[in-house]
Amino acid sequence: MSLHARLLSCLLLSLLPLAAVARDAAPAADWRRQVADISAGHDTAGRAAAITARLDRLGIAWQREPFSQDGQSGINLVADLGGPEGAPLLLLGAHYDRVEIGHGATDNASGVAAVIELARALHRQPLARHRARIVFWDLEEKGLLGSRAWVATPGRERPALYVNFDVYGWGDTLWMMTLRQDDPLAAALRPLVAARGLQLVAGERYPPTDHLPFQRAGWPAVSFSRVEGTEIEGILQVFAGQQPATPPKVMQVIHSPGDTLAALDAAHLEASVQVLEQALRQWDRRGPAAAAPAASP
Ligand SMILES: [Zn+2]
Repeated sequence: MSLHARLLSCLLLSLLPLAAVARDAAPAADWRRQVADISAGHDTAGRAAAITARLDRLGIAWQREPFSQDGQSGINLVADLGGPEGAPLLLLGAHYDRVEIGHGATDNASGVAAVIELARALHRQPLARHRARIVFWDLEEKGLLGSRAWVATPGRERPALYVNFDVYGWGDTLWMMTLRQDDPLAAALRPLVAARGLQLVAGERYPPTDHLPFQRAGWPAVSFSRVEGTEIEGILQVFAGQQPATPPKVMQVIHSPGDTLAALDAAHLEASVQVLEQALRQWDRRGPAAAAPAASP
């Protein structure tokens, strides 16, 4: 063994434990890798395979739930994370399909990967007073078909809360859709977000996505995006059919050839997932009463 090789092997050996720690405790890196894996899928099946491979590695059992809605067929992916038997249900979800153009990295591999980071935490340490389940929706881009089919299924369990994620790509702002002025999850989030140097913008104005079928059924639901706070007004203007003076980044990236990993930024990702986990655990400890009243249909 030459001196050079010995030095090299010493260096590699000294780096190994660091690498092992980093792999286990780097939600930002894992999120980014997961977004890359999903975005590399050539079709919905490829994207699903990237998601289920990750769930397998985390030891989270999952299943396919095929559905038909509006004459189209798709497959939602479902996994239970544990929690006390018979307790009310906390449902977390994100759509994993994409439009034809681009790679669906921001819209919505970013949201799927955020749900997986939360799932990892809630699987490792289940909630005290709720069962937790995750669902990845198919055919959101065709008219919220996966989530609509889910809610329309006879006998479907009404969740204590559905928490949706759509567009979770960059920025220091958690943009939260909620119908409730006194939303307990928003109340839990506010101090946590402030302590981490993040922003929370919570309210009713928000683009249409998979929280809507739940709210239309009168089931409690909220939705989160991670963006720059300065983009929000412009995004709402675009969805209202107006042309903002400065086009927001989100509207330039999604549904375009530029919806690739390159548009994403993992800064603030870790803090944003940690405050969400902490807020959900606080919401959980308040118990089933925190879920009432339901949103009006
Ligand atoms: Zn989307």
